[in-house]
Amino acid sequence: MLSAINDKGQLIQLPGRHIHELIPPHNQESYFCPQCKAPVLVRAGSKVVPHFAHFPNSSCPSSKSGEGAYHQQGKVRLWEWLQAQGYNPVLEGYLPEIGQRPDLLLQTKSRRIAIEYQCARISEKEIAKRTRQYNEIGIFPFWILGGNRVVRKGSGLLQLTAFERNFIYHYRDYRIHFFDPVTDQMMIGYHLQGSGSNLVFSIIRYFPLAVISLKNVFAEPNLLLNDMPAGWKSFVKKRRTRPLGHTSPQEKSWRQYLYAKSYHPSLLPSITYLPVPSQIQLTEPPWIWQSRYYLDTFLKTPVGGLLPIKPAKMIVPLLHVHVNPNPLQEYLTMLCRLGLAEEVSSGVYRKRQEVKAPLTIEEAIKQDEIIFNSLKSG
Ligand SMILES: [Zn+2]
Repeated sequence: MLSAINDKGQLIQLPGRHIHELIPPHNQESYFCPQCKAPVLVRAGSKVVPHFAHFPNSSCPSSKSGEGAYHQQGKVRLWEWLQAQGYNPVLEGYLPEIGQRPDLLLQTKSRRIAIEYQCARISEKEIAKRTRQYNEIGIFPFWILGGNRVVRKGSGLLQLTAFERNFIYHYRDYRIHFFDPVTDQMMIGYHLQGSGSNLVFSIIRYFPLAVISLKNVFAEPNLLLNDMPAGWKSFVKKRRTRPLGHTSPQEKSWRQYLYAKSYHPSLLPSITYLPVPSQIQLTEPPWIWQSRYYLDTFLKTPVGGLLPIKPAKMIVPLLHVHVNPNPLQEYLTMLCRLGLAEEVSSGVYRKRQEVKAPLTIEEAIKQDEIIFNSLKSG
């Protein structure tokens, strides 16, 4: 722990203090755990960030965090970062009403924020519980992941497992936040775009702590808004041209469905491979639900006819996302932008043009080129 209570009841935060001030014989003070009130010791050494430690055999939850140096260093840097901006953050402030000690607790003009700097894997149940508890007492829980958890699979591609997905936020875009104390940089993945697997397209930006403020973290990114993630075209091309090694049961049954209709996945029209913004909240890859809509609904609707709205897709809830997306509507909006449909009144769409499936791979790739590029400029 990096903070404790002294015998005058004051909260003592270790960072920035000279360790010698705190260790006897220079100091006669005793320190106590804010949570269990038991006495704690100051520990310091060449390999550890100075910290307070419980005596062995303590049963206090605070003694069991098992935090490594990386985590503690990051927490301290974030604390310094907030202080430098004029906030008054509390390190590991104890919230007795819920029995939690967020890494950092601060009050901004508009809200109280608990920052959880998460480097280690904890159970999803625990994440959900803490999030609910913070929300219940009116505190905005803001989770920043350790930079040690970043897995990049290319310049605009992140690997996000089920664990990391618990820390996705939604402002106008879906995004996720990391901090690495070694490079002293915050990494924000903006515009997270699902691809039907752990691979998520994103506009990835690095910010040295010295140049980004807390306000900026929550702000709209100053990015060219573009519905086509960089790399999407080549991702689709790869899917069209390379045989799949491993096929999931979901993919297998979809392929059977296609074959029964005499279609081949490589030769589906480009509009069955569109990146809709809320794809990250769907379990079905885009090509599966979009090709079903194309074959079962779009093709069966005559030009000029109204496009039936199928019941909403199964939306996977995300802990920190409070919007209720409508992927099919997002999809139809994209078809409108392509001139293939038009919105005649709110949520009602009319088909404007027929869309033919390509006959060869070359034709398919050419169609992708045209369709994806025209969405880019929109
Ligand atoms: Zn304790």
